[in-house]
Amino acid sequence: MKYSLFLFLGFVLSGISCKSQNGIANVKTISTIKPAYWQQHVDYKMEIDMDVKNYQYKGKQQLVYTNNSPDILYKVYYHLYFNAFQPGSEMDVHSRTVPDPDSRIGDRISVLKSEEIGYINVKSLKQNGTDLKYETVGTILEVELANPIQSGESATFNMLFDAQVPVQIRRSGRNNNEGVALSMAQWYPKLAEYDFEGWHADPYIEREFHGVWGNFDVKLTIDKDFVVGATGYLQNPNEIGHGYENGQVNRPKGNTLTWHFVAPNVHDFTWAADPNYIHDTIKVPNGPSMHFFYKSTMPKENLENWKNLQPKAVELMQFYSNNIGKYPYDQYSVIQGGDGGMEYAMCTLILGEGKFDGLFGVTAHEMAHTWFQFLLATNELKHYWMDEGFTEYFGELAGSHILNYSFKDKTKSVYDVYRYLAKSGQEQPQTTHADRFNFRQAYSISAYYKGYVFLAQLAYVIGKENQEKTIKKYFEDFAFTHPVPNDIIRTAEKVSGLELDWYLMDFAQTTNTIDYGVKAIEGSTVTLERIGLMPMPIDVTVTYTDGSTEDFYIPLQMMRGEKPTSAHIIKDWAWAYPTYSFKTNKPVQSVIIDPGGLMADINLVNNKM
Ligand SMILES: [Zn+2]
Repeated sequence: MKYSLFLFLGFVLSGISCKSQNGIANVKTISTIKPAYWQQHVDYKMEIDMDVKNYQYKGKQQLVYTNNSPDILYKVYYHLYFNAFQPGSEMDVHSRTVPDPDSRIGDRISVLKSEEIGYINVKSLKQNGTDLKYETVGTILEVELANPIQSGESATFNMLFDAQVPVQIRRSGRNNNEGVALSMAQWYPKLAEYDFEGWHADPYIEREFHGVWGNFDVKLTIDKDFVVGATGYLQNPNEIGHGYENGQVNRPKGNTLTWHFVAPNVHDFTWAADPNYIHDTIKVPNGPSMHFFYKSTMPKENLENWKNLQPKAVELMQFYSNNIGKYPYDQYSVIQGGDGGMEYAMCTLILGEGKFDGLFGVTAHEMAHTWFQFLLATNELKHYWMDEGFTEYFGELAGSHILNYSFKDKTKSVYDVYRYLAKSGQEQPQTTHADRFNFRQAYSISAYYKGYVFLAQLAYVIGKENQEKTIKKYFEDFAFTHPVPNDIIRTAEKVSGLELDWYLMDFAQTTNTIDYGVKAIEGSTVTLERIGLMPMPIDVTVTYTDGSTEDFYIPLQMMRGEKPTSAHIIKDWAWAYPTYSFKTNKPVQSVIIDPGGLMADINLVNNKM
């Protein structure tokens, strides 16, 4: 089979080379069809006028969009996320029809009154001065361009919009349940991303992140008593004060202040504001300034938690910078707001009234997102497991290191949740769009737990040191881009020298499961069996009748090599063979597969004999 395929390919290839005049013509054709990596670029300039009495704001947006794709663009799309918070929206109806809705949403959107809904109404839109035709369709603005944007060209879009901040339902909104006045995530008309897969004008149903990399310049005019925490660097600290000043504060006269923020090389911009925020800052040695915004009106115990969080947040920042890659901005803010914990550019919005461990845990998780999704900006709607799963893994790795709890125990409990899903009959492959799961729980376990297992188990497959090197190289090679699953697995292949496509495909693109078992022990011969469809290399420990033990490693043939191991490496196991036997030097008492517990075998009962 293999040989005949090669003969066939050889015939086709020689046919092509005969037709071309020289080798260069072919190379050119191929690079035109499949260009090297590219990504779009956008520069935002926004002037926002916020009325804190009726929660409405007016916006002026100028956007310079550069088309780095090889394609001519005839349309563009914007996200108008706040339109999701209207009765009858997709978010509303999905929440009322999915069997296990998010309790924060439930049917709350369906009963919002007109003064409580969210909206972004586009009043005008011009491309290079020419009025454009556009239509608001749910949470997406569909725009027909007056002049197509050629490959390599830029266009300037000028927009005027009116908006209303919804009652806090999900992620953003006014007056959250801890009384934070404004949690402003997904609050502006945001250009949809166009990448090698085309447009991603996904409606806002549950998940939101995939944005265009660029620079933000935001001027925010708001009541002078409000303290603002935001994505960017404040440009006029001494006109503002509120804990930002680095000299004499000189506020302009009037009831409002205009805050000027600049954020370079990000793909989103978030802010929150409240008149009762305490604003603390602490500097990470050789790292960014960290800002903390939390309500002074909280009970004393909560205020103490926020003080105690600050040195721990510094340690988190150092841990991630050392173990993944250096945090590239000069500022990071932990802001009380939102409805749980949510990651944004250079900041997070978290609830702030919980116990210390909870406050630390959510900060650890959200800060880890700076690396997984923010800097390594995978499309969250498609590859949520690389976003939530890797974040959860590093959040716990850092947390266990800093608060001194067992990472191994935590990992075991994560594997157990994955096993529960795998056996539940509700699992859908991780190639399922985040919004298209039958059960929200199946999404959550796939994203957070199975994603975590993917990374933890990678250490089993290629060795712990190789796994650690893979993470660092993945960051080095793909930060500030939009990596896809193949990028992490190719990185692991390059680091380890092993073939790993099977690992990505079986684990992250199907619902195949791992089940190996000990079938028989006969004297000094051990027989193992593969019951599940998914292949794996096998760590196995043998205890002899004299009480001594020996570790063996059975390479998986399709990996074309072995992980670094101190175990006794024996002949490899080709996947299609259902059983595998090996002989030892002494009579065997008992056998255990994967004593380290890092293989996500769904049936552990047969792993021992
Ligand atoms: Zn998360």
